Amino acid sequence: MGAMTLVKPNLHRVDVDARQMLFHIPSSSIFELDDLGRELLVLFDTHEQVTQEQLAGLSAHYSQQDVMEVLDELRSLEVISDAGTVARINPAPQQVTKFPLTTIVLNVNTGCNLSCTYCYKEDLTIPSKGEKMAYETAIQSVEMLLRESPDQANYNVVFFGGEPLSNMPLIREVVAYCEKRFAQLDATVDFTMTTNATLLTEKLVDWFNEHRFGLTISMDGPKAMHDKNRITVGGQGTYDVVRRKVEMLLKRYTARPVGCRVTLTRGITDVERIYDHLSGELGFFEVGFGPVTSGDIAEYNLTGEELTEVFAGMKRLGRRYLDAALRNENFGYGNMHQLITDMYEGNKKLVPCGAGIGLLAVDKDGGLNLCHRFTGSDMELFGDVTHGIDKPRLAQFVEKRLDRSNTGCETCRIRNLCSGGCYHESYAKYGDPTHPSYHYCDLMRDWVDFGVEVYARIMLENPGFFEAYVSPRRSA
Ligand code: SF4
Ligand code: SF4
Repeated sequence: MGAMTLVKPNLHRVDVDARQMLFHIPSSSIFELDDLGRELLVLFDTHEQVTQEQLAGLSAHYSQQDVMEVLDELRSLEVISDAGTVARINPAPQQVTKFPLTTIVLNVNTGCNLSCTYCYKEDLTIPSKGEKMAYETAIQSVEMLLRESPDQANYNVVFFGGEPLSNMPLIREVVAYCEKRFAQLDATVDFTMTTNATLLTEKLVDWFNEHRFGLTISMDGPKAMHDKNRITVGGQGTYDVVRRKVEMLLKRYTARPVGCRVTLTRGITDVERIYDHLSGELGFFEVGFGPVTSGDIAEYNLTGEELTEVFAGMKRLGRRYLDAALRNENFGYGNMHQLITDMYEGNKKLVPCGAGIGLLAVDKDGGLNLCHRFTGSDMELFGDVTHGIDKPRLAQFVEKRLDRSNTGCETCRIRNLCSGGCYHESYAKYGDPTHPSYHYCDLMRDWVDFGVEVYARIMLENPGFFEAYVSPRRSA
């Protein structure tokens, strides 16, 4: 065996008390290093190249066979490689030929009955000017989904807006059509919706129950925080009405757990207080936070200092998630749960999300967009529901993001979890969705390091948590 070197971009070590974990970057997996593994890696840390002579120094405590076995393991993980060879740290550039679409987002109405100050929706209008999607366009969208991606077992139809509840007649018709159509194909179809809740009624909740909708409510926290931005067209805060509707919903809705999505903007950074209100007082099953950093209206973007504060709060909540996990309890904190799920499943994200591959959003006129955030934007469409996906253009787009060469992401230790970040943030920040969103990489890396520590502690102290709370959520 010749000399070997460490492939630094493929590993990251995190200490958990006296133990050391290896975060294997290519597979997003976490292993505990035993004494021999630790000592071997220290040898590689201190020598550019490790030779047989240097390995011989380990023979006082370990058999040669044990050393060889651990070396083989590290080599198969591509954590070490033969000196002089070029180690692989990213998959070879690939051609994208398949789009296994399973999710279609329908922008059922550009109009919204609220006028949230920070809203990013570029096609958003006030209710009276709202343009509703036609029934034919919605049905063509479903048929396009089936044409482009037949033979899938499970499909998702997402209703988005504006405010989707403001076009319930269309939603009812689409649901009726889909339930029949997908049953004929022996496939399942799942319906989801994000809503501001203001138009919810008991009758609607019963109807959603019947059709097992996945519901997420947009709410920003206690009254003062929520009413800062989430206002009516006339400028009134909406907390009181949203709270009433949410209380009714959470009492009445039994089909699935209901989640809450919080938008964090300038001046709103106290994630723990928001969490305690929405989860503890109102009773949402899960709360997730979306920090705004690159919105069109700069004055709503969190400042650098605020973003640091937000991440610190997110970590404090993460500690509570960990404490609950060690007691074998679920703590409904979406951001942490998603990160832990990615690690548990060993998700290697070559792209940041399903947009453009598993998911496309249809605007009111039938144009195909990367996701719901792009409908109505200036970004060129990727086809339409009549002619189908513009595959060459979409392939070119995805291939550009897949190619990490000469970007900061190429060797970044969280490249397979972050994957350059949200396309829409890049679009808003740089005018180019293929550009990585570099504006808070250090905070993201710190967040993922923290996630590795949380994951490792659960793995070491209560591994049953994964089976009890991570697997079932994924298959639900
Ligand atoms: S965007 Fe930043 S944090 Fe994300 S993978 Fe690229 S370099 Fe890393
Ligand atoms: S591009 Fe951004 S907003 Fe759109 S689905 Fe992906 S992560 Fe979400």
